[in-house]
Amino acid sequence: MIYKNDPALIQSFLEDTSNIKTGHTPGVYFPESIEDISALLRESSASGKRLVIAGNGTGTTGGRIPFGDHVIAMEKLDRIGEPVQCAETAAVMTVGAGALLEDIQKKAESCGWLYPPDPTEKLCFIGSTIANNSSGARTYKYGPTREHIARITVVLPSGDILDIPRGKHIAGDDGMFHLDLPLAGNIAFERPGYKLPRTSKHNAGYFSKHNMDLIDLFIGAEGTLGVIADADLKLVPFPEKIVSCLVYFHALEDLFLFVEQAKGRTGGVAPRALEFFDSNSLDFLRKVYPEIPAGTSGAVFFEQEISLETEEMVLEAWLELMETSGAMIDESWVALDVNEQRAMKEFRHQLPVQVNEWLSKQSESKISTDMAVPDSSFTELFHFYRNTCEKNGFRYIIFGHIGNSHVHLNILPSSHEEFIKAKALYQDFVAKTIELGGTLSAEHGIGKLKTEYLARMFGDEGIREMARIKKTLDPCLILNVGNLIPENYYRT
Ligand SMILES: Cc1cc2nc3c(=O)[nH]c(=O)nc-3n(C[C@H](O)[C@H](O)[C@H](O)COP(=O)(O)OP(=O)(O)OC[C@H]3O[C@@H](n4cnc5c(N)ncnc54)[C@H](O)[C@@H]3O)c2cc1C
Repeated sequence: MIYKNDPALIQSFLEDTSNIKTGHTPGVYFPESIEDISALLRESSASGKRLVIAGNGTGTTGGRIPFGDHVIAMEKLDRIGEPVQCAETAAVMTVGAGALLEDIQKKAESCGWLYPPDPTEKLCFIGSTIANNSSGARTYKYGPTREHIARITVVLPSGDILDIPRGKHIAGDDGMFHLDLPLAGNIAFERPGYKLPRTSKHNAGYFSKHNMDLIDLFIGAEGTLGVIADADLKLVPFPEKIVSCLVYFHALEDLFLFVEQAKGRTGGVAPRALEFFDSNSLDFLRKVYPEIPAGTSGAVFFEQEISLETEEMVLEAWLELMETSGAMIDESWVALDVNEQRAMKEFRHQLPVQVNEWLSKQSESKISTDMAVPDSSFTELFHFYRNTCEKNGFRYIIFGHIGNSHVHLNILPSSHEEFIKAKALYQDFVAKTIELGGTLSAEHGIGKLKTEYLARMFGDEGIREMARIKKTLDPCLILNVGNLIPENYYRT
């Protein structure tokens, strides 16, 4: 196994996109096989050497940033297998944890299959997307990563290599899991007793459900329970055709009505993605796309899978919905072919590009939320975000996954005073979200940035339950310590 400790060669492992700048490490391991990972973890448990797992560094919450820990870089485990058809409309593809999501999606598509999870950032490793239960625009139809994983191999902190096909290890009615492992021996632990929020997306803390599958404990655990080494991904047939559309609205009330009705899925309308841009987001985009109409208070991007047979009926259904909900039909942009759809994708991609360019000229970083609420509370949280920002005179944008009642608020401070004020107000956003039955994180996870807020969702006992599972599987506390679970809970 390669080991590097030349500061120039390992500098990139001290960063992700969280803007945390104080990471440091003695060195980086580059395992080339599952056995390499196993040996490293076994030795580290014996010596007490702490390790943090690194994907490709696109995470937003500091999860892979080491603070004195050694790093395990997953990039050499990048194998992408051939899709193997297992039913008329299903295939499975085995991939290494360090394979790039973009390459996996291209490979699946070239064989006529679709791997549905599509975080906006494609340059991430598949292992990280599983560890973070990542999701994206298509999650509206297909659900998060969790629903597309048939099997994983996990290397536990003891060095045990655990193969977990879905359906093999199910928690008993008493909530207990029992494992008999070659190195760790007989271990038992109980799933957390808390209830998950009633949101359609949630990615904060360990998963828990009556008679849950062990695979779901590792998915979304942010690397705190083991290193995901490889996985079998579930594929679905690549759709025959797609219609994409960007619809503008004069009034936000009309836009919200349009979304509500689109979610009702009647008369042929069945979106796979429903995404939102507020007027401030459109102002950022107008620098590159001056054709964005004036007097627009927001836009919705939607996408639907169609066939040649259904195309006309589906387009008519959407047109009718646009007409009845007051959309700016003449100014809207419909994309029916691959080139137009690529251009529309670029349009959406330009938002983070433009915002990041603006931020790079400022001295402060943004304050961003990743919260989701049950559908019935969406407009209440939206107006709370907006009114708070307007009252404080902040520059801000609101955009994202409106189909899942999950939009991101980015406050863009232009001074340190504004940054401090916005950071303090983040507490109010957390409180409001939890009051509405929502989740602190719908997709980006907790990492190192948001651990202090987790107890507000699950209470002290909920965090202690997670810490007990962690300490059973990682008794020497060597792996991704400082992520997800506040460290003081290991002492109680
Ligand atoms: C512009 C932009 C847009 C984004 N859009 C989305 C989005 O739409 N949806 C979304 O969900 N996320 C989004 N993200 C966040 C990010 O892309 C995802 O969280 C992604 O899963 C991180 O992958 P990575 O390989 O870069 O992981 P890293 O940042 O390197 O690591 C992330 C975490 O995963 C852990 N980890 C990595 N590999 C493993 C492994 N093999 N086993 C166990 N733990 C592991 C790390 O320790 C760390 O805690 C976005 C990020 C950016 C910058």
